[in-house]
Amino acid sequence: MSKLSDRINNLSESQTLAMAKKSRELQAQGKDIISLSIGEPDFDTPQFIKDAGKRAIDNNVTHYTPVAGILELRKAIAAKFKRDNGLNYNFDQIIVSTGAKQSIANVILSMINPGEEVIVPIPYWVSYIETIKLAEGIPVTIPTSIDSNFKITPEQLKKAITPKTKMMVFSTPCNPSGSVYSKEELKALASVIIEFPDLYVISDEIYEYINFGGKHESLAQFDFIYDRVITVNGVSKGFAMTGWRIGYIGAPKWIADACDKMQGQFTSGTSSVSQMAAMAGIQAEPSITYEMRDAFQRRRDLVLKLMQEIPGMKTNVPEGAFYIFPDISYYFGKAYDGYRIKNSNDLSEFLLEQGNVALVSGDAFGDDNCIRFSYATSEDKLIEAVRRIKAALALLK
Ligand code: PMP
Ligand code: GLU
Repeated sequence: MSKLSDRINNLSESQTLAMAKKSRELQAQGKDIISLSIGEPDFDTPQFIKDAGKRAIDNNVTHYTPVAGILELRKAIAAKFKRDNGLNYNFDQIIVSTGAKQSIANVILSMINPGEEVIVPIPYWVSYIETIKLAEGIPVTIPTSIDSNFKITPEQLKKAITPKTKMMVFSTPCNPSGSVYSKEELKALASVIIEFPDLYVISDEIYEYINFGGKHESLAQFDFIYDRVITVNGVSKGFAMTGWRIGYIGAPKWIADACDKMQGQFTSGTSSVSQMAAMAGIQAEPSITYEMRDAFQRRRDLVLKLMQEIPGMKTNVPEGAFYIFPDISYYFGKAYDGYRIKNSNDLSEFLLEQGNVALVSGDAFGDDNCIRFSYATSEDKLIEAVRRIKAALALLK
């Protein structure tokens, strides 16, 4: 008998976190590694948000909160949905969790029965597939490529739907491609979704504030599918608050209630101090996030320009988030010192060994032809990282 459960034995480690851990270990050994692996803003949390957290401690907001979140925060999130996204959620349709990661897990574990299918466009964020598997659901992927700007078409969605399809999960702006769906594109997908009354969609909008193309568009804005959408968001990315661990959903009340019940058994809700800090950010004008967004856009432009000098590296122009997901399949079959590159994993290992740069292989996101750069770091480091990558790749013959 296995000591651990089949459930945990069948679960893959998060590749983004694994690569970040590996970089930290190598750095601790004194190696000069530039880590472009984890998707985490390098900015510090804005001062007024930190002050709100400190005030919460001083005011003894240090007890258990309602499992679904502090009422005032849920109301603030409802107001944010209205202000930024034109979405009408009552506070009782909002559940605050320990990061958007838990929000997504709550929904999947609350809704998916064994054998039910969940559609996941490629490239996907690493944790979607594993969480679906944890719920004993079946991930059904839809391929895309750089040529379609890594976005699916309504025809592709329709073709992927079977009588067993329960859900679709996707992100816009997308981690790892940076692609952003326009209002028209979302409406076209919504028109397919409405044809299938048992189909629900998790719209992961955690990169909402890191959008270089203009206004963020939410899937739930289309009234005809509003009650089929679970809108996921959080403060990790837009407010540089990854460590505070606050994410949330807006959803039909019966789904929100299920998530409340779920986390009532798992976590009893998230940190009271973090909730008070998050509330300060959510209530502030979104313009306070623009400076960080603009810095990400400058870095994107810089990395895209530098990458043009690397032979065989094909990129599109990501419109949001802080990732670039170039196609690096040009290097497959090439070798250096007896080490032959067969896939994106081999290439990321090679770049770590020979270039001292940590990236995440595209394989982790469902597209083995690509590799993910997180450009959420300083311009100096980005320049040096691309220089190292270029030099290492030049060794491959
Ligand atoms: N969704 C996507 C697409 C992400 O990239 C992340 C990053 N961690 C999350 C959800 C989860 O974010 P968090 O748990 O930090 O709120
Ligand atoms: N979402 C980030 C990433 O993709 C953080 C790591 C994680 O939560 O997986 O790198």
